[in-house]
Amino acid sequence: IENITTSTTHVFKSKLPDIPISNHLPLHTYCFENVSDCPDNPCLIVGSTAKTYSFAETQLICRKTAAGLSNLGIKQGDVIMILLQNCAEFVFAFMGASMIGAVTTTANPFYTCPEIFKQLNTSRAKLIITLSQYVDKLKETTDENHPKMGQDFKVVTIDEPPENCLHFTVLSEANENDMPEVSINPDDPVALPFSSGTTGLPKGVVLTHKSLITSVAQQVDGENPNLHLTRQDVVLCVLPLFHIYSLNSVLLCSLRAGAGVLLMQKFEIGTLLELIQRHKVSVAAVVPPLVLALAKNPMVANYDLSSIRMVLSGAAPLGKELEDALRGRVPQAILGQGYGMTEAGPVLSMCLGFAKHPFPTKSGSCGTVVRNAELKVIDPETGCSLPYNQPGEICIRGLQIMKGYLNDPEATAATIDLDGWLHTGDIGYVDDDEEVFIVDRVKEIIKFKGFQVPPAELEALLINHPSIADAAVVPQKDDVAGEVPVAFVVRSNGFDLTEEAIKEYIAKQVVFYKRLHKAYFVHAIPKSPSGKILRKDLRAKLAATATPT
Ligand code: AMP
Repeated sequence: IENITTSTTHVFKSKLPDIPISNHLPLHTYCFENVSDCPDNPCLIVGSTAKTYSFAETQLICRKTAAGLSNLGIKQGDVIMILLQNCAEFVFAFMGASMIGAVTTTANPFYTCPEIFKQLNTSRAKLIITLSQYVDKLKETTDENHPKMGQDFKVVTIDEPPENCLHFTVLSEANENDMPEVSINPDDPVALPFSSGTTGLPKGVVLTHKSLITSVAQQVDGENPNLHLTRQDVVLCVLPLFHIYSLNSVLLCSLRAGAGVLLMQKFEIGTLLELIQRHKVSVAAVVPPLVLALAKNPMVANYDLSSIRMVLSGAAPLGKELEDALRGRVPQAILGQGYGMTEAGPVLSMCLGFAKHPFPTKSGSCGTVVRNAELKVIDPETGCSLPYNQPGEICIRGLQIMKGYLNDPEATAATIDLDGWLHTGDIGYVDDDEEVFIVDRVKEIIKFKGFQVPPAELEALLINHPSIADAAVVPQKDDVAGEVPVAFVVRSNGFDLTEEAIKEYIAKQVVFYKRLHKAYFVHAIPKSPSGKILRKDLRAKLAATATPT
C-alpha cells in the first residue's frame, strides 16, 4: 500500500503497483495487439441475430472501414459522428476512424434535431454513420448557421440508405489497401464524447490515444490474474456505446483482453436474460437501474444466470440495499462498483474484487483508485487536501484524463488545474482500507439512469419561453431513475402558463431523459451576489416539502 502523506498533501494511490503502459501506440494497435494469439476467438456477438465476428474478422473489417472512410475524403484529424445504438458497425466505424487518425464523436440516436445539431456544430463532423430512420432529423434544420447534409457532411446508413445517403458497405467492403499510411501521435485525439462536466452546457471532451490506452491498461493490463478480463469471458454490452463507460470499459477493455462482446441494441429484461443464458455471459457491466431490474424482476428466477462471475456497476450511485438484493440473485458473482467521469477518461476507481481475494471491497464502495494515477480529496473551501475518512471534492491526476474541452480553454482551466489535477465536482472520501465512497455532488449535473441531464441546457430553453422570466433546474431523488430533473420557474406575464404547458414545451425539444418531471412556480430564483443560482437551496427546498413555493 503506497500512500504519500506529507504535512500538506494527502495523495491516494492504488493498492496495486504501477505498471508499464504501451501508451506510445495508436489506440487500435494497442487494442488489437493480442489478436494474433486468438484470431478465431469470438470478438463481437450480435445479440439480435447471433452473428459472430472473430477477432481476425473484426480487425479486417475495421481496416476496410478505415480505407472506406479515407475513400470518402475523411482525413487524419477529421471528425466523424456515430449516431447509433450498439451494433457491430459501431465498432468497425470507431476503430476504422482511429486507424486513419480520425476522431469519433458519439451521440445518442434518440437526440432531437437541435440536440444533434449542437453537437455537429461544435464537433464539425464531416460524416455521420446512422440508421435511415434517424436521417430525417438531419434534414429538419432550417437554421442557416447549421451545417447542411450533403454539403457539409455526408451520411452513411447501416440499413437501406435514403436518398443522398450511402450504404455502410462503401466502408466495410472497401479495399483495405486503400488505407492511407498515417503517423499518429499519442497526444492526437481519437474520441470526442460530449459532457457538461461540472458546469454549463455539453462540451466536447478530447480523449487522446494516450488517454484511452492508459485508462484501458489501468483496468485490464498488468500482473494481477484476478483482475483480468480473460479470453474465456463473454462481456455484456447493453449499456450504450455512445457513452464512454461502455465504449471504454466494455468494448476497448474486451478487445484488449481478447474477451467476446455481446452487443445488445437496447435493454429489455426478457431478451437480456435470454441472451445471458444462451451466450453464457460471464461479466456484466451495468448501471443502477439495470441492477434494480436484475434484483427485483420476477422473470429472473426462470433463467440460468450461473455463468455470471462478475457484475460491475457504474455511472451513478448504487445503494447498498440494491447491491445486497442483487447478491441474492447471482450469489456466485463478485459484485462491485466503478466510479467514472467522461473527462477522467473515464475510470477513477474500481473494485478489484474480480475475485474474492486479494482485495474484497465493501458494499457501497466504488473500489480503489486505478493504478498509474493519483487521487486526492480536497476541502472545497480551502483547496487543501484531506486525509482518510474526510469528505471533500475528489480530484484525479494521470495520463488517462482528457486533454481538455474542445475549443474551450476557459472551461478546461476551470476543470484541470495548473498542477494537472482534474476536479470532478463529486464529494467523497477514502476510508482506512483505501476504498473510495461517493457521498454527494457539488456540480450541477443531474443523472437520470446514468444519463447526463445538464441543468444549464434546460434553463436556457426555459428562459427562451416568452412567458418565463427566470428558471432553475435541479435534481429530485427518484427510486427508479436515481434522479429526475425538476424546474423552478418565474412567470413573466400573468399566470396563464401552466406546469403541463412547460413540461410539454421542454419535451418537444429534448431527448426523453431530459424531460421535466415537475415545474414549480416561484416568485424568484435564489441567487448569490454574483448571480449564481443557489442550487443547494433549491435542492433543500425540494427535500423539505412536497410542493415548494
Ligand atoms: P459521466 O461523465 O456521464 O460518466 O458522469 C460522471 C458522473 O457520474 C460522476 O462525476 C459522478 O457524479 C457520477 N458517477 C459515476 N459513477 C458513479 C458511482 N459509481 N457512484 C456515484 N456517482 C457516480
